[in-house]
Amino acid sequence: MSAYKSAEQYRTIAGRLTLPGHAFIDGDWTAAASGKVFENVDPATGALLGTVAACDGADVDRAVASARRVFEAGDWSRAAPEARKAVLLKLADLVRANAEELAVLESVDSGKTIKDCLNEISHEVPTFFQWYGELADKAFGKVAPTAEKVVAMIVKEPIGVVGLVLPWNFPLLMAAWKLAPALAVGCSAVLKPAEQTPLSALRLAELAIEAGLPPGVLNVVPGFGETAGQAIGRHNDIDAVSFTGSTEVGAYFLKYASESNLKPVGLEMGGKSPMIVLDDADIDDTLVSSAINAAFWNGGQNCSANMRQIVDRRVKDAFLDRVLEKTRALVVGDPLDPATDLGSMVSTEHKERVLSYIEIGKAEGAQTLAGGGASEGLAGAFVDPTVFDNVDPGMRIAREEIFGPVLGVIPVDGVDEALTIARDTDYGLHATVFTRDIDKAFHLAKRLPCGTVAINGFSEGNVTTPFGGYKRSGSMARDNGTEAIDQYLQTKTIWLSLK
Ligand code: NDP
Repeated sequence: MSAYKSAEQYRTIAGRLTLPGHAFIDGDWTAAASGKVFENVDPATGALLGTVAACDGADVDRAVASARRVFEAGDWSRAAPEARKAVLLKLADLVRANAEELAVLESVDSGKTIKDCLNEISHEVPTFFQWYGELADKAFGKVAPTAEKVVAMIVKEPIGVVGLVLPWNFPLLMAAWKLAPALAVGCSAVLKPAEQTPLSALRLAELAIEAGLPPGVLNVVPGFGETAGQAIGRHNDIDAVSFTGSTEVGAYFLKYASESNLKPVGLEMGGKSPMIVLDDADIDDTLVSSAINAAFWNGGQNCSANMRQIVDRRVKDAFLDRVLEKTRALVVGDPLDPATDLGSMVSTEHKERVLSYIEIGKAEGAQTLAGGGASEGLAGAFVDPTVFDNVDPGMRIAREEIFGPVLGVIPVDGVDEALTIARDTDYGLHATVFTRDIDKAFHLAKRLPCGTVAINGFSEGNVTTPFGGYKRSGSMARDNGTEAIDQYLQTKTIWLSLK
């Protein structure tokens, strides 16, 4: 029996959902102070889902005041770690219990497939709350080596009120990546979901209260980047910001910080990640599925998408035969149908952006082997999975982030040329390497300037492994693993002189 319900059943669930339309501040729903709302559209159908509060600076002020009040009161920030752990474990359970509804909510909000939404929301999202919850009471401070008459303790304290600014490609998962470590260490948060996908984060805030999180610890302010996002970046009473999104907007956050209170800013931004296939690689199911996933998972709307597939000429034909066979079998369509592999792009504007890159690729002389345009017969923001061959490393499609279902093959001769081309990018988020030679695998892993190198299988790692970028893909901050909590902590030295 299938693990999934039918598209019809998911549509029925969608029809029954109560869609959140307000901001969530100080433990309660509230309209934007201005009374303004924005329209929230299902990108797969173009249907209006509802309206959502368009928060701006005044609402961010309210949210920060609430977050600050509870932080200073200590109900969460100074609670016993095991008490925070209990709430985060309960939240993980509540996400699991409500995973189906949350997944349907996210699917209609974003155009993501129900399969991916269910996988992320019933497994990954609760894992983050559980893992960081369990970490809450297992992090110890240090005692420095000193002369006998001194005890010097190095302790970590929650940094305070954090601003979390999210992208639209993995709405609830990105909320969990940032919230779980921030809450585990005792911070209060003001979270801004992307304007395209505000719904699941709003519902999460409600579940967090049900789990026992004190009101005001988690505030969600839906709205636009230029208003709500900028107000967070510039707020003098926000102690740190963690952002995921484009490199352009990441740079704004550095500027906002430098023009306000110099808050630390954690940035996880775009990529133009390579997959290297050497001539000794087995062109088997694992490799081909990795190539497909690396380019087309989430419709290619993935910061670590391996769009640049750098393939040795000696295996290129075999590689392309298998990749094309799988690409042609991919089902593009109704995101609520569990048979669908690629849902819609997040919005019509984004679809147009992706299509314009596909046209640029054609004009630059890349050879279209599959796809190459909007999906015929589908009215929403759908783009066919597209495979380009003979992509030149200097082409714009090989240098700029497309963030859509485009796989570009760059043919090379040998490991040295592969490495030179793979390194030749402004970004440094991720890379995948396929080879049977352990020496070549480690040589490439050490020489690739990026935050994650996956060998013989496309992967971003998991909750235990830090994720972030080199160069224009990120700052020193990392999401995930024990490293993530560093974004939300201060270090204090307590120097005690003994008599
Ligand atoms: P953005 O970087 O514009 O958006 C990310 C977040 O920042 C959103 O919450 C957005 O708000 C907010 N934001 C936007 N402008 C500002 C601003 N001036 N000040 C403060 N906050 C702001 O990404 P987009 O959604 O526009 O996508 C554009 C491109 O960015 C994609 O095509 C892709 O290349 C890249 N991207 C990378 C992601 C990643 O995972 N690394 C994720 C998403 C996008 P709002 O959306 O409400 O305006």
